[in-house]
Amino acid sequence: MVGLCVTVLYEGRLDAMDRARETSRNLALIAERDIERNFELYALSLQAVVDGMDDPAVLSLPPNLRRQMLFDRASTAKYLGSMLVLNASGNIVVDSVGDVPRHGNFSDRRYFTIQRDNPNAGLYISDPFRSRLRGGSPSVALSRRLSHPDGSFAGIVLIAINLEYFRQLFAALSLGPHGAVSLIGRNGIMFMRQPYDLRTIGRDISKASTFRHFRSTPEGSFTDTASIDGVRRLYFFRNFPDLPLMIMVAEAQQDIYAAWRRRAMTIGSLMLAFSLAFVALSFMLGAQLRRRMRAESELQLLARTDGLTGLHNRRTLGEILDQEWRRARRTRSMFSLLFVDIDRFKAYNDTYGHLAGDDALAAVARCIGDNIRRSTDSAARYGGEEFVVVLPDTPPAGAARIAEQIRTAISELAIEHAGSEYGHVTASIGMASWAPEQDGDVAAVIRAADEALYNAKAAGRNRVWPFSPA
Ligand code: GH3
Ligand code: MG
Ligand code: MG
Repeated sequence: MVGLCVTVLYEGRLDAMDRARETSRNLALIAERDIERNFELYALSLQAVVDGMDDPAVLSLPPNLRRQMLFDRASTAKYLGSMLVLNASGNIVVDSVGDVPRHGNFSDRRYFTIQRDNPNAGLYISDPFRSRLRGGSPSVALSRRLSHPDGSFAGIVLIAINLEYFRQLFAALSLGPHGAVSLIGRNGIMFMRQPYDLRTIGRDISKASTFRHFRSTPEGSFTDTASIDGVRRLYFFRNFPDLPLMIMVAEAQQDIYAAWRRRAMTIGSLMLAFSLAFVALSFMLGAQLRRRMRAESELQLLARTDGLTGLHNRRTLGEILDQEWRRARRTRSMFSLLFVDIDRFKAYNDTYGHLAGDDALAAVARCIGDNIRRSTDSAARYGGEEFVVVLPDTPPAGAARIAEQIRTAISELAIEHAGSEYGHVTASIGMASWAPEQDGDVAAVIRAADEALYNAKAAGRNRVWPFSPA
């Protein structure tokens, strides 16, 4: 689930970046169309003036009519600073603003010198400059050359465009709190930048690393950290196809990912809480399960053992006998069984009480348990003061040795027993061994051991008696 969550969030992040790139591209395209369309109209107006200045009929008109004729109504367009005709020495001869031309000489401006020095300059677009006629407001000029019939320089026609046009255009674009849009000349001179700062206009950024990117292809995008504010941005740039300009749209990564980050935080923290709860629940469940399993195995053990002696109980003895008998038959091995009975135990109880009797029983059981060593051997309480020892794969000699060890150990406990002919607690043991070739079932073996025990009792108790078929 965590993997799925991370994948979805990562995809969302990539989507946010793709969307931002698409948005930047659309903004750049729309701005470019607007600028190109306007410049096309300015260029047409400029050409109309050039053509008019060649027409003697227009030139012979009185100044007010000539002005209307030359400039049409284009000069009233918004953001159009002024349209001027300058003579060969750079002085204003026709002014779109009034019938009496304003005073001014512009022979030092590059839009003038380039037309003067080069007959084939064509339409020239200047770098931004501060207008002398309009109180220093930042402007950009479009100029065309006027020539005498012999081709010599006659002056220029120029249109000054207020950079406010670009400012208004860019201000309308929404690019997030840290975004930026710039219009840059192909030579690296800044025309306009949003967020607006008058000082950035006219700045030469041709040495900046980002600018080198712009020059390489017609359009493209890349991410870079701005040296000015250290903000990492996605840059999209486009070189205008018909004008020596390029537009750059930059969106800050923090803005691009803002919505995504909010969503990621919500989903991420929910996921974290969910995962932690899941892990905690798993641990609790695991602990509960382990406790249950422990209790179950304890219960199982309790169900299989005799409470007083700690040996197998009667029920378990049944299972063991069944299993070991079948194994002995299958592997064709000898099967031995001991029947242990405490001597004169009723008298012991009568003399010392049942509690002491229980203690003696437990002590005797311990003797029996301690003297069977092999893992396949087992001892069980048959009932009352009687025990059965199962000795699979054990021949009579081995069984007799174990029986004798048990008998001796019980005797050596030396538990006082006044009612016994021996003076202490003893036990008699009947023993039966069954060879593979003999017929019979496990009940027959038990009967045989019981019979041997009866014989041990009859022979004087405190002894081991092997079964011998009559
Ligand atoms: P024998 O030497 O012939 O075996 O004599 P015995 O008295 O041991 O024979 P019997 O089988 O008649 O007596 C068994 C007695 O064992 C009866 C009972 O008082 C005692 N007994 C049986 N189970 C328990 C027990 O769980 N606790 C105690 N304290 N005594 C028990
Ligand atoms: Mg008995
Ligand atoms: Mg007895």
